[in-house]
Amino acid sequence: MAFVLTPDMLQCPDCGGNDIIAQDTPATGFRCAACGTFMERRGPVVNALPKDLSRDTSANLGHYEEMANSGNSQLDRRSRTRNHQIKYETISGILGLGGDGPRMTVLEVGAGSGAHGAESARLGHRYVGLDLSPAALYRAARTNSVLAEASLIAGDATRIPLRDNLFDTVFCVATLHHLTEPLDGLREMIRVLKPGGVFCFMEPRWCYPTQLYSYLRHPGVEVGTFKIMSGRLFRALRRCGVREARMTCCVYTPNRPAWLIPVYGVVDRVCAAVPPLHALSVVRCTHGVK
Ligand SMILES: [Zn+2]
Repeated sequence: MAFVLTPDMLQCPDCGGNDIIAQDTPATGFRCAACGTFMERRGPVVNALPKDLSRDTSANLGHYEEMANSGNSQLDRRSRTRNHQIKYETISGILGLGGDGPRMTVLEVGAGSGAHGAESARLGHRYVGLDLSPAALYRAARTNSVLAEASLIAGDATRIPLRDNLFDTVFCVATLHHLTEPLDGLREMIRVLKPGGVFCFMEPRWCYPTQLYSYLRHPGVEVGTFKIMSGRLFRALRRCGVREARMTCCVYTPNRPAWLIPVYGVVDRVCAAVPPLHALSVVRCTHGVK
């Protein structure tokens, strides 16, 4: 069953107002009754980008729009790598998305190529994917037909255009470190999660060589790299009033070269089994219950 956004789920990205009305002419979408902002809907994608983006957010938007429009399938390729599979399996296990559990409302912040959304929708979950780049979402909808059953929103993760307490689960893979202040995104993820709902976000550690390399290449895009410190994240979660939070480590080795993958598989299993080796993990997954 398709999961379609309704006006009572939306919040105006410009004024924060909750008085949103559906509109069908001249274009299809939603309008804020307070400030007049229009959020156009095309297929499963609703464009709810705010009018005034910060400089860093604009830099991120330009970067990902270019990547999506160039026909370069870098986002698609990344989502199929071995490490990405490990990340999604970890998240799916923590949130209970796999198996025979109940079907849930799921928000992903940083939906990118749509690979996680497609998997969630295929399992019957009611999935909403938020991403800064409208072009990335249009591309995701074109390349994953199952996303016609889901909802995709172009929006700013620091001002999620959705109302409080909507989702059973909220997750994010390597998106918070693209924000000038990752905690702004973290607070928003908790805000839209229902009390008792489960959250999970996975971010690279700043000291990992590939992350440092990414930062040096695109400092404006990897702008929050050095603000992803576990102590900071846990303090912010406590201030948001979450009931419990903990950290899981899961990726220890790179994706390449392919001929080393069997060795990497063994290294990953050994590291996972020996707690002192968790300090070597490339990404950290923070998760808990609101
Ligand atoms: Zn408004």
